[in-house]
Amino acid sequence: MHIQICKDYKEVSKIAADFISDEIKNNSKTVLGLATGSTPIGLYENLIKKYNNNEISFRDISSFNLDEYIGISKENKQSYYSFMHDKLFNHIDIKEENINIPDGNAKDFDIYASEFEARIKKIGGIDLQILGIGKNAHIGFNEPSDTFSKKTGVVKLAQSTIDANSRFFESIDDVPKMAISMGIGTIFSAKKIVLLASGKDKAEAIRETVNGGIRPQVPSSILQLHSNVTLIIDEDAGSLL
Ligand code: PGA
Repeated sequence: MHIQICKDYKEVSKIAADFISDEIKNNSKTVLGLATGSTPIGLYENLIKKYNNNEISFRDISSFNLDEYIGISKENKQSYYSFMHDKLFNHIDIKEENINIPDGNAKDFDIYASEFEARIKKIGGIDLQILGIGKNAHIGFNEPSDTFSKKTGVVKLAQSTIDANSRFFESIDDVPKMAISMGIGTIFSAKKIVLLASGKDKAEAIRETVNGGIRPQVPSSILQLHSNVTLIIDEDAGSLL
């Protein structure tokens, strides 16, 4: 595990954008795994700047998002579909047909999840997966559990996640309780993984990710076994290392 400690959130966002743009410059057909949440917003802003400066193009890039809420429409501004279009896709030249965001309104989630996995496999796997991390060390929406989930599927959100996400909704009752998420196994099969974290409230999760025992109660701890993981975190998130 490679750990890069940055001064602050701004630097995390810049270094992460440099990391991704280097990858894209090396391989114009990079398959990106993308994340939502507050953490990657600065990264996406920097990628848009690089695109506008003609440093990188997303013309041949494909993307797979980690997760999506179940029970709200794509058009709802809290959906991850809307988030990704608003924060990144609407501002770059990625082709709509190359964007893959789990469908939170699928008719049959089992069939849909297998198709999503098959799409990742068919394209040759995810080259670079971006992750945020929950305060409870979830990655994607894989909450602490007794087992590591292998594949994409329906998940029940932990109360702490519902509480954390309520800041984006008018009332806590509006926060979806279920989601569809890539499994830990899906995430783990990415060739490279970059995890971003900022702020003191992530420090404990980061300590457990790096130095804790590998256990499904700390989903991110599995990353210790992956051969190509980079943590780009600020001093606050790294303060317990
Ligand atoms: P955040 O969420 O970036 O909004 O802190 C991260 C996560 O829950 O994975």
